[in-house]
Amino acid sequence: MDCLFCKITAGEIPAKKIYEDELVVAFHDIAPQAPVHFLVIPKKHISTLNDLTEADRELAGHILYTAQRLANELGCEQGYRVTMNCNELGGQTVYHIHMHVLGQRQLTWPPG
Ligand code: IMP
Repeated sequence: MDCLFCKITAGEIPAKKIYEDELVVAFHDIAPQAPVHFLVIPKKHISTLNDLTEADRELAGHILYTAQRLANELGCEQGYRVTMNCNELGGQTVYHIHMHVLGQRQLTWPPG
């Protein structure tokens, strides 16, 4: 499958990895939008949030928990944002689900 994030998971494309376990990989975003900006992805290929199934409930929780844990480890105790963009109108550009974690600057609302 020609998927950028599957290639990062497989180690075929380099990434600044922060964390990895049997279910997920976390790595710094290549074009950071905040002093801390990393992505948490499942190792399993899931194209969009709409493709999550009942069987992925534990995995989805693990992605969220990993995002929280790493955000705090990387110094975002004062606040941070997690975002998952879905499909074109949601701003998704890489079709392998990923949770963005942004922190260490004042974030504004609404997002663009
Ligand atoms: P999306 O727009 O929500 O799909 O986010 C995709 C994110 O992946 C963007 O923030 C990109 O900067 C990031 N990205 C694209 N290619 C790479 C890469 O090779 N390494 C790390 N991050 C990447």
